[in-house]
Amino acid sequence: MADNMKKDLASGKLKTVEKEGKSAVWKSFDLVVNAEDDGVGFVQCKVCKLLMEYDSKTTGTSSLQRHLEKSCKPLAAAGDVLRQPKIN
Ligand SMILES: [Zn+2]
Repeated sequence: MADNMKKDLASGKLKTVEKEGKSAVWKSFDLVVNAEDDGVGFVQCKVCKLLMEYDSKTTGTSSLQRHLEKSCKPLAAAGDVLRQPKIN
């Protein structure tokens, strides 16, 4: 399903937009929307371009946060996308 979305993003059928949100994860994720600017239940990581399911009611931002911390951190550090105040 994410493969189809990649195709649709490449063809312009879907696009990504900046999301205004309280959570800091939105600095690192864009919302995937259709031609009518409606969310399609997915977000894309700006760092590694991974598409992830997102629903504000069910999944929330915790899975996105986890991705940034566990899966994406090396990439984020290299790209200096996430500005972490603390360095471990
Ligand atoms: Zn990522």
